[in-house]
Amino acid sequence: MHLKDILFAVANFLILFGALFFITRKMIIRMFRERKEKIAGELDKAKKAEEDAAALESQVDRDKEQARQQEKQLLEDTQRQVEENRVCAAGSSQEAANVLRQSAAERERQLRAIMHEEVSAQVVRQVAEETGKALRKEEYAARRAALADAFIEKAGKMVTARPSDILTLAEGKKLAVTVTGAEPLTEEQTEKLHRTLTDVFAAACKEAGEDAPRGEIVDLYSETDESVIAGVRLRVGDTVYDGSAARCLERLVQRAEQSGDESGRSVLDGVRGLLSSADGSVDIYQVGQVISVSDGICRVSGLADVMAGEMLEFKGDLRGMVMDLDQDNVGVVLLGQFAGIQEGDLVRRTGRIIEVPVGEGMRGRVVDALGRPVDGKGPITPDGYRAVESPAPSVLHRQGVTVPLQTGIKAIDALVPIGRGQRELIIGDRQTGKTAIALDAIVNQKGKDVLCIYVAIGQKESTVANVVRKLTEMGAMDYTTVVCASASEPAPMLYIAPYAGAAIGEYFMYQGKDVLIVYDDLSKQAAAYREISLLLQRPPGREAYPGDVFYLHSRLLERAARLDEASGGGSMTALPIIETQAGDISAYIPTNVISITDGQIFLETGLFHSGIRPAINVGLSVSRVGGAAQMPAMKQVAGRLRTDLAQYRELASFAQFGSELDASTQSTLCRGQHMTELLKQNQFAAMSVEDQVIAIFAANEGYADDVALSDMPRFEREVVEFVKQAMPELVDVICEGKKIPGDMLEKLRGTLKRFKESF
Ligand code: ATP
Ligand code: MG
Repeated sequence: MHLKDILFAVANFLILFGALFFITRKMIIRMFRERKEKIAGELDKAKKAEEDAAALESQVDRDKEQARQQEKQLLEDTQRQVEENRVCAAGSSQEAANVLRQSAAERERQLRAIMHEEVSAQVVRQVAEETGKALRKEEYAARRAALADAFIEKAGKMVTARPSDILTLAEGKKLAVTVTGAEPLTEEQTEKLHRTLTDVFAAACKEAGEDAPRGEIVDLYSETDESVIAGVRLRVGDTVYDGSAARCLERLVQRAEQSGDESGRSVLDGVRGLLSSADGSVDIYQVGQVISVSDGICRVSGLADVMAGEMLEFKGDLRGMVMDLDQDNVGVVLLGQFAGIQEGDLVRRTGRIIEVPVGEGMRGRVVDALGRPVDGKGPITPDGYRAVESPAPSVLHRQGVTVPLQTGIKAIDALVPIGRGQRELIIGDRQTGKTAIALDAIVNQKGKDVLCIYVAIGQKESTVANVVRKLTEMGAMDYTTVVCASASEPAPMLYIAPYAGAAIGEYFMYQGKDVLIVYDDLSKQAAAYREISLLLQRPPGREAYPGDVFYLHSRLLERAARLDEASGGGSMTALPIIETQAGDISAYIPTNVISITDGQIFLETGLFHSGIRPAINVGLSVSRVGGAAQMPAMKQVAGRLRTDLAQYRELASFAQFGSELDASTQSTLCRGQHMTELLKQNQFAAMSVEDQVIAIFAANEGYADDVALSDMPRFEREVVEFVKQAMPELVDVICEGKKIPGDMLEKLRGTLKRFKESF
């Protein structure tokens, strides 16, 4: 039984095992096969990786070799260049090599400067931040208390009553005073401060002749603010007396950034001073608060003592100019990108009217309306600053206009001469060559000791860039400053740009130099001013311009003057430009500016398109004072030219209809035609005064009457050449600014006759 059981169990086990084996056999086989395949795959992969590694190794070797080659090539190149430079330097073109070396050094210097600026600003800021943290530590508690004590001690001397404070007290109101510290002030300190302030303001009221206010006059609020770090900040009305360590550090950082301190050493020194000296310095300023902002105009509450035209500082680098002084707020125009300004922002007074840097450093530079360089040639080191708005020289300090300002344009120097210190308006429709005349005048001042300023108002930046490039090409940038307020800038920049240009010019004028300033163009300035005025809700007048638009231009153009010898004898000649619509010179702004200036050059579209360039309308153009300044020889030959030409134009328009003309009319027409042809002149083709005199004399005396019109340029060229060779003494007489004597005139006629025979 026992054995049977065992056998039965064994058999069972075997059957079970057999069945199990039979069932799982396939699985096991499959498992083994997969295992084998996997191992083979791994082996394959390993082999492939091995191969890859080998390939990579050879690639690296190849790369290394290539790099070595390149390095070698570079070294060779550099050596060759150095060699070439040396050869060059040793040879005739040493200067070229020097220039090359200098420009390389300059580039390196600029790069370094930029790097320094970036790095040092960070270092400086970090130093200040760390100091702030350190000062907050427990070990400096006594020092912090001492700073607050010192401030309260000084308050009596430091705090002054502003006119606005006295006004508040006179109205019977209390003065609101806020005192802020990092830690709460002690009872004793508060008491003392309150007493001191009450004394100061009571005394100030008495001095101002107001009735002594009765009862409490100062409302003192005390508050704590961690960000003050140490010391005290006191605010009386709009005025802040900031003796806090936070402000001190802020100022140190600003100063370090401005002075280009790279290591933050000045900050460290300042911090040492702050920690060691018994009393920290106190910064006194006035602040207001933005109450509304839109379209580049913002209203600021507070600032009761602010001046009209004063510059205000907003957060960031934004500046603003005060335009409106209202009862309880001021209207400010923002000079720059104003997207970041919000209601509640603090605004700081600077106490200065808007000003621009002036001096020799401005020569050859392109600046914006605030005098900041925009040509990427690095910062300007000014000789000083000058308010953009300043009164024109008085009548007593002026003298008459007697010295000519040669433009090099025949039609202008002969017909509407301009003198130094004169204001001559260039007026015409769009694309009639207005800018061209102004630029020609600037280019022609080369070597004549006249400094030039070109103020571009509301033009495309690309147009201004073209002007600058042209001036540079013609070598005129050395004595020229370009002030640019482009069309993309906010209206206030367009509004102040001409004044900024005038301020830069005035500086030179008061130094006894001669200045030529071009305002291109004032119609855009007027439009910008209209925009500002409407936004400031000033009442619109004719053509929606505000009532004081005349004053806008008159106070600008009055600044052009010729000073008397006692005031240095300098001069500023102004060439304002006005754009008309469809030739309408009787519109509001054109009539205004015509009445302010000493004459106008009227350019006409019709003439321009008929090929008469410069397209000067002789009948409507005039120079009211330039006659006295014209070169005597020119006056002699061109005295009647303007009226003659005007007469010819009248006749010519009639002659279109008639067929039968009498001989005298025909000769007038012929002379006029030739003269008109002679007065045509290309852009940037300036002519010296002696050439002009000879050519105009020849045509005026009829020597060109039988020359074909198409031959006039050749006639002009050759007659000038011929006469200058034949009569060098004539050139001297003209250049010395004398009249041509009678006998010389006779000789000139003889010479011209001889020339005509050979022509
Ligand atoms: P805008 O109204 O656009 O300011 P504008 O009146 O200032 O124009 P310019 O830009 O000076 O006119 O001149 C218009 C075009 O006429 C320019 O292409 C210029 O080169 C050309 N031009 C001006 N004067 C002359 C001239 N004397 N001879 C030939 N071309 C001229
Ligand atoms: Mg122009």
